[in-house]
Amino acid sequence: MLRNQYGKTQKRSSTDVFTREKRSDVMSRIRGKDTKLEVIVRSELHKLGYRFRLHRKDLPGNPDVYLKKIQTAVFVNGCFWHQHPGCRQARLPKSNVEFWTTKLIGNRKRDLKNYRKLKAMGTHVIILWECELERNLEALPRYLVTKMKV
Ligand SMILES: [Zn+2]
Repeated sequence: MLRNQYGKTQKRSSTDVFTREKRSDVMSRIRGKDTKLEVIVRSELHKLGYRFRLHRKDLPGNPDVYLKKIQTAVFVNGCFWHQHPGCRQARLPKSNVEFWTTKLIGNRKRDLKNYRKLKAMGTHVIILWECELERNLEALPRYLVTKMKV
């Protein structure tokens, strides 16, 4: 139960995606370039013997990881900010709907445009979603190997 500004208690809507704490946590993680999952992905790639560069500014979307030798861009996407299709974590917040809709749909459109540009340059694009990584961390190395061999 929450207290609203008038001191009355109200039940938090079950459709509210994030609690205030969770949202600010998500925001701080997304602001920093080195999100935890990104670091895990990098370290797995490194263990697998891949060499890569981070956040190449000269490439569309500044891929989180770029493997020059095999011309592959890897994005580690937060489900909320990058609007993972069909994902629970990607649901729009109930407040400031207009702001969030514009912002998040804009993010998604920009992502898709960047992926298209990269593909047009002959770059292989791998998108890793936060929720899927969190669910299957132990399967990550094998998944990466499979995805790279294209
Ligand atoms: Zn997701």
